[in-house]
Amino acid sequence: MSTTPTPSRFPSDVYADRLARAARATGAADLDALVITPGPDLQYLVGATASSHERLTALVVPADGSTPTVVVPRLELASLGPAAVAELGLPVRDWTDGDDPYRLVAAAVGGSGRIAVADAMPALHVLPLADTLGAIPILATGVLRELRMVKDPAEIEALRRAGDAIDRVHARMAEFLQVGRTEREVADLIARAIVAEGHEAADFVIVGSGPNGADPHHEVSDRVVAAGDIVVIDIGGAVTPGYYSDSTRTYAIGEPDADIAATIAVLERAQQAARDAARPGVTAAAVDAAARDVLVAAGLGDAFVHRTGHGIGLSVHEEPYIVAGNDTPLAPGMAFSIEPGVYFPGRWGARIEDIVVVTADGAEALNRRPRGLTVLG
Ligand code: ZN
Ligand code: ZN
Ligand code: ZN
Repeated sequence: MSTTPTPSRFPSDVYADRLARAARATGAADLDALVITPGPDLQYLVGATASSHERLTALVVPADGSTPTVVVPRLELASLGPAAVAELGLPVRDWTDGDDPYRLVAAAVGGSGRIAVADAMPALHVLPLADTLGAIPILATGVLRELRMVKDPAEIEALRRAGDAIDRVHARMAEFLQVGRTEREVADLIARAIVAEGHEAADFVIVGSGPNGADPHHEVSDRVVAAGDIVVIDIGGAVTPGYYSDSTRTYAIGEPDADIAATIAVLERAQQAARDAARPGVTAAAVDAAARDVLVAAGLGDAFVHRTGHGIGLSVHEEPYIVAGNDTPLAPGMAFSIEPGVYFPGRWGARIEDIVVVTADGAEALNRRPRGLTVLG
């Protein structure tokens, strides 16, 4: 059980530093400002978790380093988290129905109106904003990429807590994954455990039993778990303040066939090879290749139908993607999944997934449960 209370946000100097670095990156991209609506980028920059809707809420971060402005509907001020605004001393331009919030944003942007907007900004706001500024925005992901990919120590600590919490759920799998229960019943029990072990909520619970394990996008069904099944369990959620876990283990209900056990042993070696390959200076593509080469050499290349991994943080899927063609060199502080799988349509599938953080000379796994096939029942 998780009993340690954790603050709902990082200390304000963490956010002040991120805002300063975001402003510098905006200037380096030859833009006048970032305009960030609610979503992971807003959470990253000021620790606020407002929701997005038809009334515009936006953080404007000028490239010149002057104080960022918050444009917010008066009735939404509370939902923005007054702490986020007050602690950081951000001026608030609140507006009421009938006002033009896009003019307030344009005034805060200044310059010639060249901006980058959060990927999560709805078109409903992007188009009137572009019209007011007289310029088409670019996406902020390109500007914030270098910042958000490399996690600071506070973020790594949060990811570590998330990893420990999801490991505790996998450790209890024998309580949940039992013959005679449907995948949906198993998933409901797991979802409760995800919360009980310290997450804010269960974000996803994949229970792929028997032939359903061969579909990497399967979630749950009413299929009843039976003796002899191979079962893929891929689970995660966010821990305060918003950092995700994501870990997959493959279970056998009773002793598996020797050829299945041998195939999963190869998958375990592939996952290990990718973890061993991950270190500063190595490309994301090379980590993907390290896992893939092991499977190809064993004649299993065609069974591995997806990329090896994805970055993780305030989003479950973010940069860097561990995929062929991504020549991004890894750097200390980058956090991502390593999750090779093998899928045999109509029969069974398996996946092994850990989150790792790149260190000075390698990569540290944040998930530590045994990685090979775990036999239950
Ligand atoms: Zn996963
Ligand atoms: Zn994943
Ligand atoms: Zn996915």
